[in-house]
Amino acid sequence: MVRYAQLLEQRYKGRIDADADDFLGFIVDGGKHMTNLIHDLLAFSRTSRQLEPLKPLPAREAVAQALRNLEMVLDDAGAEVIVGDLPLVIADQTHLVSLFQNLIGNGLKYRAPDRKPVLSIKAERMSFDIWRFAVADNGIGIEPQYHEKIFEIFQRLDPGSNHEGTGIGLTMCRRIVHRFGGTIWVNSEPGTGTTFFFTLKDGSLEA
Ligand code: ADP
Repeated sequence: MVRYAQLLEQRYKGRIDADADDFLGFIVDGGKHMTNLIHDLLAFSRTSRQLEPLKPLPAREAVAQALRNLEMVLDDAGAEVIVGDLPLVIADQTHLVSLFQNLIGNGLKYRAPDRKPVLSIKAERMSFDIWRFAVADNGIGIEPQYHEKIFEIFQRLDPGSNHEGTGIGLTMCRRIVHRFGGTIWVNSEPGTGTTFFFTLKDGSLEA
């Protein structure tokens, strides 16, 4: 569908009239959004089905995989990524990668236009069996009144902006963290940056 709309756009853009060009643009964008929506909804539904068992896993490797999956966007944005020492945690590999990938991906997507994106991924021990992770960016930030709302499904703060998205990512992150027995929250200063925190159980005790 999208492909045919794109073909129509390529072949007839500028040959009908300005309204037709706009309409074709809307069809192509709408079609792409629908494809992304289906993709994200399927990923979201997989967070409650096809569950792999939870076991001790090195968070460092999940982050490395997430960074490999995002390599092209990271390079394009000229981003700097700082990764601290990361522990063994209780999780499943697919969803642990997806959690980091969503948060790091958002850090890049919502970057400030006037500075180089700098992201950091760190973990700190909170208690003898709980780690608190922090995924931080120096992007556009989020106003305090939206700090809870962004975790609701389909909630996007600026849907008209150039940032493509479906509003499913953070809902999925919260669902993943809850399944691993942790909590997730955000701290952010508009104009300065955002840090997502989440807790996970220490995996070294069961390793
Ligand atoms: P999506 O990115 O697909 O819109 P998410 O559920 O991942 O959906 O995020 C919801 C909304 O929260 C985004 O639309 C954006 O407005 C805001 N947001 C998420 N992460 C960040 C971030 N790191 N910096 C600024 N805003 C963010």
